[in-house]
Amino acid sequence: MIPDFRIGQGFDVHPLVEGRKLILGGIEIPFPLGLHGHSDADVLSHALGDALLGAAGLGDLGSHFPDSDPRYQGISSLRLLEIIATLLRDKGLDIVNADLTLVAEAPRIASYREAMQGRIAAALQCPPERIHIKATTTEGLGFTGRKEGMAAYAVVLLLKKDEAQS
Ligand code: MG
Repeated sequence: MIPDFRIGQGFDVHPLVEGRKLILGGIEIPFPLGLHGHSDADVLSHALGDALLGAAGLGDLGSHFPDSDPRYQGISSLRLLEIIATLLRDKGLDIVNADLTLVAEAPRIASYREAMQGRIAAALQCPPERIHIKATTTEGLGFTGRKEGMAAYAVVLLLKKDEAQS
């Protein structure tokens, strides 16, 4: 029998502003600018959350955690991933892997990669080797190139547990 895989993709953008911490993958990264948003504006975690919800057929981040809800003001996006992970477990869905791409002109995140992967995996309660984070620039072009904002893409693969075995 063909395994019951579910694929999902996510995309997110947040503007860069002064006076905000830069949180990426649940890690605070020293940088003169931070991402603006209702939550901690962790663009990587948001793209991943949307990909996970999409793969599970559960809608999107905005419908689960609306900007208008004061409960999510300043919330750690890792907490949102924890909630999403619970929804996945309830549906019998395991995370096979997730591949994330941060689009940002600066800063370089290579030295934070392992820590970010570890934080996200801990929030999702999956092994860290199943989460991979990469980064790219847009060679100075567009809003990311001008450091007006950052974007992130995520692709995930889920596997639905065999009902007979679970
Ligand atoms: Mg967002």
